[in-house]
Amino acid sequence: MASSTSSVIQVRDVIIIGAGPSGLGVAARLHEPLPAANFTDDEHRRFHWIKQYRASKTTTKNQRKGAGKQRNASVPSTVTPELDLLALDASGKSWMQRWQGLFKTFDISHLRSPMFFHVDPSERDALLSYAYANDRSDELRELHGCVGKELSKYQRKKRERMGRQQQNIPTIDERDRKDYYVPSTPLFFSHCDCIVDRYQLSDTMLSQEQVEDIRYDYVRDFSDEQKIFCIKTNKGCHYSKIAVLAIGGNPPQIPYPLKPGEMEGATHAMDIKAFPPLYMQKKIANKARTNVLVVGGGLTSAQIADLAARRGVSKVWLIMRGPLKIKHFDIGLEWVGKFRNVEHAQFWNSETADERCKKIMDARNGGSITPYYKKIVEKHIATGRVDMLLHTTIDSMKWDPSSKIWDVSLKGERQDLPPIDHIYFATGVGTNFESLPCLQSMCHDYPIENCGGFPCITEKMAWRKDVPLFVAGRFAALQLGPGAHNLIGARIGADRIAWSIQEMLGTEEGGDRANWTQDKFNYLTGRGSRYDALANIPVAG
Ligand SMILES: Cc1cc2nc3c(=O)[nH]c(=O)nc-3n(C[C@H](O)[C@H](O)[C@H](O)COP(=O)(O)OP(=O)(O)OC[C@H]3O[C@@H](n4cnc5c(N)ncnc54)[C@H](O)[C@@H]3O)c2cc1C
Repeated sequence: MASSTSSVIQVRDVIIIGAGPSGLGVAARLHEPLPAANFTDDEHRRFHWIKQYRASKTTTKNQRKGAGKQRNASVPSTVTPELDLLALDASGKSWMQRWQGLFKTFDISHLRSPMFFHVDPSERDALLSYAYANDRSDELRELHGCVGKELSKYQRKKRERMGRQQQNIPTIDERDRKDYYVPSTPLFFSHCDCIVDRYQLSDTMLSQEQVEDIRYDYVRDFSDEQKIFCIKTNKGCHYSKIAVLAIGGNPPQIPYPLKPGEMEGATHAMDIKAFPPLYMQKKIANKARTNVLVVGGGLTSAQIADLAARRGVSKVWLIMRGPLKIKHFDIGLEWVGKFRNVEHAQFWNSETADERCKKIMDARNGGSITPYYKKIVEKHIATGRVDMLLHTTIDSMKWDPSSKIWDVSLKGERQDLPPIDHIYFATGVGTNFESLPCLQSMCHDYPIENCGGFPCITEKMAWRKDVPLFVAGRFAALQLGPGAHNLIGARIGADRIAWSIQEMLGTEEGGDRANWTQDKFNYLTGRGSRYDALANIPVAG
């Protein structure tokens, strides 16, 4: 599709807001003509058949008309060059820049998620294949205690009857062992670069701009009959027929009200610039005693505690309001292992958004740390560098700007603390789309229901049936399930969004779309009877 340009404005086909994993996933998927990452082998074979059938039909038709279109030889066969796409991201000029920054700040050596969590639309095992093809399998770290002999239903019931705990029983079959490794950070980012190169998603289609407002309306300079998006940023205005919202969650917020003068002494984990802050670095260099308080029970809090100890902080106090939860991933194995279809089926069968929301909350169940980081924290505890206090919250905190010291008292396992130099809040980011400044116009002009802070988007991932603003990432959780917050959700969401966009733009080859796109969508997403799609395909010749 070429962009539509009136004498005054340029209207893109698609604008993606956010160039993190979800944004990259959508851009890549829109350029992949043979997406296979979310299909079983059976579905994949069928998909190829459909494509081949349609390709041969188109070719014959074009030959008859003599209208065969020459493909640019320099463009790999996988690329759909006509789509006019622009990506906007506030935090960088290249894809995944914010993610790269966070991984560097926290000095994360390996991802938390298994090998099939990635945003490559070409195949499910793309990251694993990439590691082997590039001789980098030594950068994979096995997830111990995750894979094991699977228990039969009878064995499970028997264990339950005997009152044995279900927890920590591996639910991943030995055959899937290859999936349960985690990639090193450099390997994962090389794979992302490879996706960018393969689909020619060069940084030229990306602009560093903060989106401030999104409107969907008639624009006099374009058309009186077709509404388009007007996306206002800190640098200007962009227009598009379709928009994709891939902005992660709400901006980070410290869960205690801080006065302006106190900001210097506290940082939200997602806002860390220098670690530890400069005034502490000076103290550490002078061999003075330093104390840091870390608040939060998720993996980031453990990573910050470890980093502080490694960077020379004398003592780290790690507090969390609940118990310490140990999990390989931030969603339970039942959502990623062999039985995930059971969980997903129950999720999709939920009758109300409230039910779905509850399932998401139950599955994520707050912050947790990995067995790997548990060992690291335990080592620091053993050497006296870290103290971990469970079921504990801040009762009061008072900042002295002259000495740059907090006086903190706690509620929980312990009440008093020594003078604290800095407090880090690893308390995650919130989810409430209605409070996002850039969505105020959309919420006003095209209101939709809010369930637990998540927008109730359509099954086709759109804001509303009449508004082609597609939602990716965590804000799409009511459609994607608890994995929406992770890389797996980014890829599955990208696939569903691309189906909807291609349907709208008519970018799939061949005509006759109206008759069977819905059938194909139903077939490939496992809805209804798979034979309907066969019945509606016109017979060639
Ligand atoms: C340190 C860390 C490690 C993680 N590790 C894993 C892991 O190993 N595996 C896993 O599956 N998940 C992991 N996660 C979860 C992770 O958040 C998601 O996998 C992923 O970041 C979601 O991608 P996203 O693109 O939806 O959101 P984000 O990564 O948050 O990207 C959103 C992008 O939108 C941009 N943006 C936001 N608002 C605007 C605006 N108004 N205008 C313009 N641009 C805007 C931001 O700058 C950002 O680049 C990790 C998260 C963190 C913080």
